[in-house]
Amino acid sequence: MQETAIVSFAQLGLNAELQSSAAQAGFTVPTPVQMQAIGPVLHGRDVLAQAQTGSGKTAAYVLPVLQLLMTTASSRDEAPKKRTTQVLVLVPTRELATQVSDVLRDLARPLAQSIKVGTVFGGVSINPQMMSLRSGADVVVATPGRLLDLVDHNALNLGHVQHLVLDEADRLLDLGFAEELQRVLALLPAKRQNLLFSATFEPVVQTLAEALLHDPARITIAHTQEHTPDIAQRAIQVDEKSRTALLRHLIKTHVWKRVLVFVATRYACEHVANKLYKAGVFATAFHGEMSQGARQDVLAEFKEERWEVVVTTDLAARGIDIAQLPVVVNYDLPRSATDYTHRIGRTGRAGAHGEAVSFVTAATLAHWQLIQKRVQVQLPLEVLEGFEPTEVPPPASPLNDGTGGIKGKRPSKKDKLRAAAAHAEPLAPKD
Ligand code: ADP
Ligand code: MG
Repeated sequence: MQETAIVSFAQLGLNAELQSSAAQAGFTVPTPVQMQAIGPVLHGRDVLAQAQTGSGKTAAYVLPVLQLLMTTASSRDEAPKKRTTQVLVLVPTRELATQVSDVLRDLARPLAQSIKVGTVFGGVSINPQMMSLRSGADVVVATPGRLLDLVDHNALNLGHVQHLVLDEADRLLDLGFAEELQRVLALLPAKRQNLLFSATFEPVVQTLAEALLHDPARITIAHTQEHTPDIAQRAIQVDEKSRTALLRHLIKTHVWKRVLVFVATRYACEHVANKLYKAGVFATAFHGEMSQGARQDVLAEFKEERWEVVVTTDLAARGIDIAQLPVVVNYDLPRSATDYTHRIGRTGRAGAHGEAVSFVTAATLAHWQLIQKRVQVQLPLEVLEGFEPTEVPPPASPLNDGTGGIKGKRPSKKDKLRAAAAHAEPLAPKD
């Protein structure tokens, strides 16, 4: 499909009610991925869609899936005793489950027909989720682990799911989720629509994706100037020990009001956030070892601009949509080019301008060159006055993973699997 003329939601086949929902959400024109995905989804086709971070992938499946749900739901019992779950959206993180549910509810709210969205994720008590699912839910948005727990408790039946969405599909297909995903798939009807969305699909994952899909519509929004997020990328060479001071310097000189800082480990989140806080920067940590309540609070407060800096791991690299987040900093470099793409994609969303700064040390320089090659950027390595590097690169060692070398807590089994998957990825030249 050509994207020459601007197409409206109406022309894509979206009904009047959903056009109005989209308008109320502030979506006046469809984004490129919405232009290409909405039609095939409405036609019941499987979809494999790769489109840039912040390009509106959520609504690209939410809008047409709601329409499909309206059609099937209207033909059923007027007052069903229990709603059957027809749509299942899987996501890799709890925060993303909440975010996608919010988009679904916002777009479904104006519709005449009531559509119930169930949100399911771990780290919080299972009982309220069981209670809320008692009368069923038309759509369930879930992280895989808790979803399986609820099925085991007979709180949820996935036997009627007609539409399966994997948001951040490549993450869900990688090793860290493989076992859980297989268990979920085994609970679904074989005949169903499969919709896979992500900004990245490494070749290995692509093969796994193919096994799930039947004659899919393949959508790739090419990296043209027009379709690439507007993110100014910078790389600054600095000594490992001077990174916090450099970060403070940048925050002060650029008057950055809100910064998302990525580090390699949970321990480093606390460590860097504490150092910044003690130096007078309103900084806090966000990572997987915090209670779910604390995680939710930090994210909400960050969105309300009550924190200047949030220091996080790759937990926050995927999907999280923070409007007007101007700056992302890689304090430690990401493990893979895929992670780099997702991390910096937290800024420059929905057409906004963003900035992404990566700190490169003597020890991580070789790794940085590799990331650059794989994402096809070549940035000048800046040296800032007062932060001139003095460290020399360590001797080559297979144990040096180039992620900054900060030692943290022992990684969990899941971490290890994810890390193995990340390392196993033979990275594609693009994305
Ligand atoms: P992705 O999943 O591709 O990273 P999201 O679905 O999170 O991106 O959308 C990014 C931002 O773009 C969100 O804040 C969303 O509200 C906004 N958005 C989505 N579709 C449109 C549209 N058609 N017009 C304007 N803004 C949109
Ligand atoms: Mg998304």
